[in-house]
Amino acid sequence: MELIYLKPVFKQMIWGGNRLRTDFGYDIPGDQTGECWAIGAHPNGDCEVAEGTFAGQKLSELWQNHRELFGGFPGDRFPLLIKIIDAKNDLSIQVHPDDAYAKEHENGSLGKMECWYILDAKKDQTIVIGHNAKNHEEVQSMIEGHRWKEFIREVPCRKGDFFQINPGTVHAIKGGTLILETQQNSDITYRVYDYDRLQNGKPRQLHVQQSIDVIRAPFHPEDAETTRTSEKVQDAVIETLVTCARYQVQKTELNGSLTRTWDAPFVNLSVLEGEGTIEGKPVKKGVHLIIPYQYGPVAMRGNMMMITSTPEKA
Ligand code: ZN
Repeated sequence: MELIYLKPVFKQMIWGGNRLRTDFGYDIPGDQTGECWAIGAHPNGDCEVAEGTFAGQKLSELWQNHRELFGGFPGDRFPLLIKIIDAKNDLSIQVHPDDAYAKEHENGSLGKMECWYILDAKKDQTIVIGHNAKNHEEVQSMIEGHRWKEFIREVPCRKGDFFQINPGTVHAIKGGTLILETQQNSDITYRVYDYDRLQNGKPRQLHVQQSIDVIRAPFHPEDAETTRTSEKVQDAVIETLVTCARYQVQKTELNGSLTRTWDAPFVNLSVLEGEGTIEGKPVKKGVHLIIPYQYGPVAMRGNMMMITSTPEKA
């Protein structure tokens, strides 16, 4: 059995920058590259297998034709999407629907639960999570009245922080942040407010009614905070960042060697700092791969930080 190395897909965004080149060494399409879709099989960004038996095939094809690699995990599409986000400028204030709303209103799409590990942040960085409206009526009146300063809840954010963003949570990444995002495989975003910016001379589309429909009120700050637990395993510290209804995400700081066997349908693995080897093959920051079902022990060596995720059954 082989590890499945993937080639990322890049997305130009009005708020994007060039750190995916300067920090990660990727060959990006331009200096406004906002997103690296590192492990994903969405029609808007379907990663290709980089090498080995399945070289050149899309992850969606593997999902359709080789479900055994994923432990027979149920579903008509690969469940997760892993991104690196380079926000040079502020992203719009946005919200995602849950599975039920997306299924009904978005052509059977999945909703989006997502989470952010902050890879880097500038001094005095903030991030938008939640809102200050007391109830749903106030959500509507604050949005319709453009009372953004009152409505938006902005909190400090530092390198190493972690946030869980449930469907219905107002959120926005602010300029100066680099993030590893683990999310459901969905591209449904409702834009509430875009700072009145223009793209090619026109404002980007807003989705005010859908946003009002799906924003949950009041916001509970504890919903975005997770209890992080860590344990020392061989030469590594493995920290569980979140376990929720759709995924479990862990961070591994390795300084030396670690041999680990996962009990999961499959594992998404991203190397985000440093370098080393995985199963004897050199890897460094920016490498992404999938460990297939029942691969067995994976031998890792070096000085590197990795984030892994495993799916939870819906
Ligand atoms: Zn989002």
